[in-house]
Parts: sequence; structure tokens; C-alpha cells
Amino acid sequence: MRLKSNDPCWCGSGNKHKRCHGDRQALSYPPVHLGGVSAPRPVPDVIVRPDYVATGTVSTSRSPQVQDAESLVRLRRACSVAAEVLIRTGELVAVGTTTDELDAVAHSIYVELGAYPSDLHYQGYTKSICTSVNGVICHGIPDDRPLEDGDIVNIDVTAYIDGMHGDTSATFHAGTPRAAVAGLVDTTREATLRGIAAIRPFEPLQRIAEAIEPFAESRGYAVIREYGGHGIGATFHADPHVSHHIDRSDDHIVVPGMTFTVEPMLTSGRPTFHQAADGWTEHADDNRPSAQFEHTVLVTDAGAEILTVTADGATAVGTLDSISARR
Ligand SMILES: [Zn+2]
Repeated sequence: MRLKSNDPCWCGSGNKHKRCHGDRQALSYPPVHLGGVSAPRPVPDVIVRPDYVATGTVSTSRSPQVQDAESLVRLRRACSVAAEVLIRTGELVAVGTTTDELDAVAHSIYVELGAYPSDLHYQGYTKSICTSVNGVICHGIPDDRPLEDGDIVNIDVTAYIDGMHGDTSATFHAGTPRAAVAGLVDTTREATLRGIAAIRPFEPLQRIAEAIEPFAESRGYAVIREYGGHGIGATFHADPHVSHHIDRSDDHIVVPGMTFTVEPMLTSGRPTFHQAADGWTEHADDNRPSAQFEHTVLVTDAGAEILTVTADGATAVGTLDSISARR
């Protein structure tokens, strides 16, 4: 059951939700104005591209991605590169910075690390990351709109190297966070990690949704249904579809070696949205802010391991250790 506006707020303040983290004024943003988009950035010839860059079609298998020891080494590398691009790009989120500037920085880091930005020329997309601001649910295109004080921006990074894609995203604050919006961002981060922590081998994929959706609703947020995680490895977007909302028709069972993403999008408003004329940007119908975090994970004999961390274990998303202390 979704927390109601007159219920006591989930944070323990003792105030009604509508006077605290559900404050409508704090959660009210104008529609995100889409700005000008710059030309695609060049990638040095020495960097290996996925097939679809040249052919326009994905030739690799869409079936569930299950790794062996050899492929896992390569996937770990791709995931560590993605984690590093996300951390270093996220550090530059600030009032006045444009998402195109974030794209330029991310692009140069992919190239520095020897990776191809998987988004670039994927099904006609022309940028190296996605940047989704405020009421943009996902797939925002980096442009020349400067970030404003109180904005949030999700940066979604996918790196292709050694024949593997590693995918991770996080939501960052520009300037001073509004308390109600910070609640959304913190809850989405925690929901992502709770979903990953619930994964067990030979059990339903739905364990993830069962950990995420009731938690999100208990704090007054809704989970986006139409977008979910996906199998990942040699293929960027493979089966299974990883639902973050409870779907009794989903009968997928996870097995050790499977790799997929967990990437819930939570909104403070209604979970309905529409696509912009650019064919990518998904705007919330009510413009209420939404947040998203994402890791690429490996199913193990005991649960799941997060792969999108640097060699030093760093991530802009968070680790399972960061939630275990609070559960
Ligand atoms: Zn509160």
C-alpha cells in the first residue's frame, strides 16, 4: 500500500507525509526544457566497437546471458570501466553545468580507458551517456540546458570492452538538494540495493520486485512498470526482462552465472509518462521528479555479486554492505 498524504511520514519526523517528504511544493518542477544536442563524438579507430555500430542491428544472442570463468573476467573489466566513468562524471554535476558537458567528460573517460560507449549509435542514439533530469523518467539526451539549483540528474553509463557491456547508473544532485527530493533519491538507491540483496540462485527473479515495490510504496513512491532491467554480457540488452514491480505472470528462475541489471525507477508522482518527439526522452506526465540507480549483477551460489564497481570496490551507486548495517 502506497503511503498516503495524511499518513505519518516514513522518515519518523512525526509530521504528515504531505508536510514532510511528500511535500507537493518541493516536489513540483516545471517540465524539463529539452535543449540543443551536439554532434556525436568521435571514437579512435583503435577502440573495438560492438557490431551494431556498423550494421545498425544487434547480431549477438538475446537469450539470457550466463557467464563462464573466461567471459566473467572480461565482463568484470567492462563493469569496472563503467563504474569508473560513472564516478568521475558524477563528480562534475553542478549548477550551471550542461548535460552535454557531462557527455563530453564521460566520452573522454571511456576512450581513456579503452572502452566504447555502448549507447553511441545504438539504434540511432547519438550520445555516449543518457542524462535524465527531474521529471524525465529515463533516456534523456545530453544537451545544452544548464543544470539548475535543486535539479537531480540520472547519468546512465554503459561501457563496451573485451566484447562485453557493463551497465550502471546513479542519480546526482545539482546544488542544494530539496529534502523531499533527497528522500526520493536515497530511497531509490536503497531500493536498488535491497532488490539485489534479495537475489537467490534457483529462486524466482520476482524476489527482486518483491523487495523493491512494497518498500518504495511504504515511502510514498511508485515504481515505473514499463522499463526494467535486462540480461547483459556480450549482448547489451538481453533476456530476461527484470521487472521491479510485482508481476505474478513472471516465472523466470535465476541460476548461478547469470548476469543482468537491476535498475528501478521510482517516482514521487504518478508512474505514467510519454515520449518526446526525439524518440528517446520519457517525460513523466505530471513532471514530478523520478530517480534511478543501476548495477550489473552476477548470480552466485549464495546470492548476487555487484559487478559494476572499480578494482578498488568504488561505486557511485552503493554496495550491499551499505544497506546490511541498516536492515
Ligand atoms: Zn519525512
